[in-house]
Amino acid sequence: MKACYPGSFDPITLGHLDIIERASRMFDEVVVMIMHNPRKTCAFSVEDRKRMIEESIESLEGVNNVSVVIGSGLTVDYAKKVGANAIIRGIRAVSDYEYELQQATANLMLNHEIETLFLIAKPKYSFLSSSVVKEIALNKGDIKAFLPSVIVKEVEDKMVEFHR
Ligand code: ADP
Repeated sequence: MKACYPGSFDPITLGHLDIIERASRMFDEVVVMIMHNPRKTCAFSVEDRKRMIEESIESLEGVNNVSVVIGSGLTVDYAKKVGANAIIRGIRAVSDYEYELQQATANLMLNHEIETLFLIAKPKYSFLSSSVVKEIALNKGDIKAFLPSVIVKEVEDKMVEFHR
């Protein structure tokens, strides 16, 4: 079975990477889909986000069934395009659940052959989001504990750029 994991990943965090690793052990194939949303302003380009995810996945031992694509349009349409019949989403708190329930229900109405499956965040990552990391980096705080080590410097440098 092939699953997709859609999101913004602006940038990927250890919370995202944990979901990717766990999903990779449950499915034959996992496609991380960076969904391009023209209405959302992101700090990193989709190409940079894709490369950062690919570099981060390399650090996962024994994981070789994950690929990364850049998608656009409706998530269910793109999921179908890549041949996935499951959508993975992560849930950190009840606040995530309300939004995710709405999205998952809408997606089920749009395509009843694609199921949304939720993985709950590990407690150590339940506070973690790309926005929190960017906010800390923007204020020159230490983000090492929150990101895959290979992308820490790039995120720090990028946020310094925002300061200029
Ligand atoms: P989106 O803009 O689609 O919400 P995100 O990149 O913010 O994209 O998140 C993608 C998915 O990963 C969402 O399902 C989100 O709930 C989940 N996620 C984000 N951070 C974490 C985390 N720390 N632990 C587990 N899941 C997470």
